[in-house]
Amino acid sequence: MQIKVLGAGGNIGNSGILVKDNSTTILLDYGLNPGKNIVHPLHVRPKDLTALITTHAHLDHIGYEPYLYIDGNVPHYATKVTIELTELLLYDLINISGDKLPFTQQEVKKLVRMSKAIEYEEPFNINGIETEFFNAGHIPGSSMVYMKGSKRVLYTGDINHIQTRLLTPASYDLPEVDYIVSECTYAMQDHPEREQEEKKLIDFSNEIIEDGGTVLVPAFAVGRAQELAEIYYSYNFKHDVYMDGMALTVNDILLNNPQFLRDPEFLRNALGRLNYVNGWEDRRKIVKEPAVIISPAGMLMGGASVFYSKKISKNPKNGIAIVAYQVEGTPGRSLVEEGSLNFNGNHYSVNAKVGKFDLSSHSGRSQLLQMFKSLKGSPKIILVHGEQENCEAFALELNSMGLNATCARTGEVIE
Ligand SMILES: [Zn+2]
Repeated sequence: MQIKVLGAGGNIGNSGILVKDNSTTILLDYGLNPGKNIVHPLHVRPKDLTALITTHAHLDHIGYEPYLYIDGNVPHYATKVTIELTELLLYDLINISGDKLPFTQQEVKKLVRMSKAIEYEEPFNINGIETEFFNAGHIPGSSMVYMKGSKRVLYTGDINHIQTRLLTPASYDLPEVDYIVSECTYAMQDHPEREQEEKKLIDFSNEIIEDGGTVLVPAFAVGRAQELAEIYYSYNFKHDVYMDGMALTVNDILLNNPQFLRDPEFLRNALGRLNYVNGWEDRRKIVKEPAVIISPAGMLMGGASVFYSKKISKNPKNGIAIVAYQVEGTPGRSLVEEGSLNFNGNHYSVNAKVGKFDLSSHSGRSQLLQMFKSLKGSPKIILVHGEQENCEAFALELNSMGLNATCARTGEVIE
């Protein structure tokens, strides 16, 4: 068995892992980086692929998949909700960045047509490779992928071992393998207590609104927006909460796939308490109201959150709550690091208060350590999807504990 890292070797983003075993070649994820310049993983020929597997519907794991369908008919496997969300996100990507992409809606349609929905913990066979998905706890439908051919390998995709209001966590009880390919986004950082961060967000929102201001929460449409709705609902938040954009379509997809949610009824109730934004008239009105606005995109890369952030940032009474990791080169990152907004080279100064709340959907350092320590056997640990320096330091540390770890570079082949 041979594992080749096609992307996210020493960086966070554009993921792609190629697993070859005799005559079978399986590609796990094929994403792109949603920065100013689109970065995709190393090239692979569709005709060399036996199958494509998607771990979860985030652009850095799915964004380049349609490329494989320009001239190919690769069978695609993912959970049902991942397939539905992938379709939605890819259409949106083409709407926003179509002129920078080598594919169109046609290829997305083909990808969906070639897709087969797989349940968690129900083994299936790909040309002699026994394959199984396990809940990864990262976003609804996210999977870890186990494959058994001449060797056994587990790819974590993105994982979270911490329970959230929306999702049940990934389990530490994993099958014995020879290789584990793992993300290490937070190899060197632990997350604060989640409930404490939730309370801080509620306090921040209350203070701004009681002072007559508006709170913008830029949020990923998939998972984060719904979790935020559940947080405001859990704390019996007294003020108006609006939700806008693609998150509203995602709400319906998630409620139609309740098996991927921790408590579907709770989500239904939380969403029922929201005000849904309907068009530009609504947007121009609510941006002046004492209320919370939850809106994609989470890194201010597009969507209504761009409009809201320009308006809301002017007034010192207003607030912007950052609730997710902001990738380098995004307007969200410049807001967090420089305290200003930068949209296509146009700078906007920010007078509003900016709050940061750690509601990560990735395991922190302690959880990653616990996972590696509880692995059965002594698998080779291949670290990807982490910043180079952190990834290397973490591999050294794991090795000093008697484990067998390496920080993989993009292009590296592990036999
Ligand atoms: Zn992800």
